[in-house]
Amino acid sequence: MRFYVPEWDDHVDADYDFIHDEHSSLDPSERRLAYIWDIFDHETTPIDGVLISREQVEDTPSKFARITEHGVYEAPVLDIPDWLPTVSDCGAWGYKSLPFPPYGNEGMLDFYEELDVTVGVTIDHLVLGSGHTARLYLDERAFPEDFSKSDIPEEISEQIDVMVDEWPTEWPEYVRKYEPSIYDTDGVETFDPDIFQQPLSTLLSELEAHSHAVYRDDDMSFRYDLTLSNAREMKELYDDGDYSFRLMVAIQGWDVRSYVDATERVLEMGYQYLGVGGVAGSPERAVKEYVMGIGNSIKDFERDHDTRIDTHVFGFAKTGAFDTIGKSGMTSFDSASMLRSAWTGGENYHLDSDQRYDAIRVRYPSNRDSLREAVETALRSQEMLYSLRAFDADESISAALAEWYHAASATLENLEPYLREHRHDEQYDSSTLRPIKQAFRDDYAYGRNVRANFSGKFRGRLAKLLRKDDPEDPISFDEYQRLIANIRTVFDDWTPTNVGEIKQNEKRSGEYGTLTQLWTLLSEYATYLGDENHLDAYEELLRREPWNECGCRICKKHGIEVAIFRGNNRNRRRGFHNTRRFYDEFERSLPNIAVVTRGGTGLSTADSVERFLREDRTDFWAEVHDLPVAEIGTVTAHGVHEWWARSPSTISLEPLSMQETLERFCLRYQELFIDGSNWTPTDELIDTVRAVGCDVTVLDEPEDLRMAVLDRLGYEPDFVPEPLLQSGLMEY
Ligand SMILES: [Zn+2]
Repeated sequence: MRFYVPEWDDHVDADYDFIHDEHSSLDPSERRLAYIWDIFDHETTPIDGVLISREQVEDTPSKFARITEHGVYEAPVLDIPDWLPTVSDCGAWGYKSLPFPPYGNEGMLDFYEELDVTVGVTIDHLVLGSGHTARLYLDERAFPEDFSKSDIPEEISEQIDVMVDEWPTEWPEYVRKYEPSIYDTDGVETFDPDIFQQPLSTLLSELEAHSHAVYRDDDMSFRYDLTLSNAREMKELYDDGDYSFRLMVAIQGWDVRSYVDATERVLEMGYQYLGVGGVAGSPERAVKEYVMGIGNSIKDFERDHDTRIDTHVFGFAKTGAFDTIGKSGMTSFDSASMLRSAWTGGENYHLDSDQRYDAIRVRYPSNRDSLREAVETALRSQEMLYSLRAFDADESISAALAEWYHAASATLENLEPYLREHRHDEQYDSSTLRPIKQAFRDDYAYGRNVRANFSGKFRGRLAKLLRKDDPEDPISFDEYQRLIANIRTVFDDWTPTNVGEIKQNEKRSGEYGTLTQLWTLLSEYATYLGDENHLDAYEELLRREPWNECGCRICKKHGIEVAIFRGNNRNRRRGFHNTRRFYDEFERSLPNIAVVTRGGTGLSTADSVERFLREDRTDFWAEVHDLPVAEIGTVTAHGVHEWWARSPSTISLEPLSMQETLERFCLRYQELFIDGSNWTPTDELIDTVRAVGCDVTVLDEPEDLRMAVLDRLGYEPDFVPEPLLQSGLMEY
């Protein structure tokens, strides 16, 4: 089983300065970006692949241009390592309120080829709702100025589903076939608001020929059928072309029967890789039913046709469904929920699906704050961060606060003398602010402390004065002094919050960095922010200190920072950590298992690996082709060739290279089962693979091999659970 994660620009600054809360460079293009595969290595990256949606890529035109030029495996965009497979789809969720997917089949195939992804997915259209919905689509651009979606009378929106969205300026060619009136449009013809006051039937006939309105009696069936007709057309185009990626078909449905029918139809079309779409928002029990239904239908097909089908479940990864997903023979799934839960909702720090904790919110000033408010918020947040680090290190919190206060004072003390001397330096001669801020941060000895302690707003105003201050036409130094005096009104009387009380407690108890001492500050800080309701959860987190229990490299390196809710660099790192913890659980439930047989001379003459397996490894293939494992293939000195791949043109079975190949391949597997009927691997090979943490079983009889794999998974010989099709259980 493989776990994919959707890519939504999930990167952090690799060299982020946690102590000063600063990016490595103020210029984003100079930062070294770290994606999850950069933070972890080949062995520990907690994903087996990346899902890239066209809809998401197109959100940023410059990203679209660069990624289609360089592909996903090359810098400068994603630079995904070559061992990590990639799937690309159109991103149906993003255009769900358009009457048609805004892409054509041929254009999508070209897009996948340009991206250089491993797998491309056919174009689907989300089947929304659970009944045969009547739906009216309206182009937002055709609304007159004083009329919006909310002005559509309730009598209309109660009778039909109305979807308003901004339509593309150009539709793909296929739309002409379904709706010639919207395909050829010249300019936007606005709606007459009066027509919405008429009865529904009159409204619909008024809109019939309008080029910015589409109405369908049964939109669900339309979407379902369109998804299938795209599948048929794209398969033909794909088979006629010479594409380097593998084609996956996306299916949609609204109940078990519709999903099973779609499955049967795409299998007849010749697809060997299915993607189950449209389940992301469905309840767990419903998804289990769909997956069981689809799994059964696929098993029948595999057994009847002596073949294998891979299946991906889009947007679904509930730990409670692992068993069903595994037994139903699904080969992969994707989800971003563990990543995103690091900064959405509560319980943001996960040890596993049951042990979840609230991260401590240490807030940045808001843009709406006055300068003085911003400075106070910044000072308080720095007190908190210094104290949290001392708590984590079991060091004196009062000493940490004193150290912080000293640095903040020095920052302000030295600022005026610095500005007097350097304000006319060449480095501040710029018409834009960013280079000025960067130069100031790097040149002024306390430059990195300015923003963290006295707010970005303050640094921004300083930079504006420096920009205005021309050596030829200098501004009065008073302007700097007035700005600094403003900060002093907040800072001059500042003593670190509750430092006396903390110090006393340290003296009395002889202990440092205790929860009681931290609490003196934290409870007041949370109250200041209006976060009192989080205090119980914070206490639970701080008593447990789960980051000390986590062995992932993020927690090891950054400790308590991972449990602090603050900005992209902490929050997204926590998301990577959550993903790692999820993956640990997933690996325990659904271990990554590979089943391989040695390649042979017949491999280069067969047109596909599957044909070689079926014709030259007949008994082996007959026993294993339908097993619910991640990988079945044949191994040569050049690598493990997956069952669905094209045959390699040259074959080498040189023993040492075979050993090195398997050593690298097995880094990410827990179990390797080897067909011993035509190959006896050396003890050295077996030891090498075991040394990377992958167990090896060699069995001479293919039948024994099958039983051993099922036994390892804890599955019955006829493992697929029967769906409850007739019981009515799925009607909820
Ligand atoms: Zn961790």
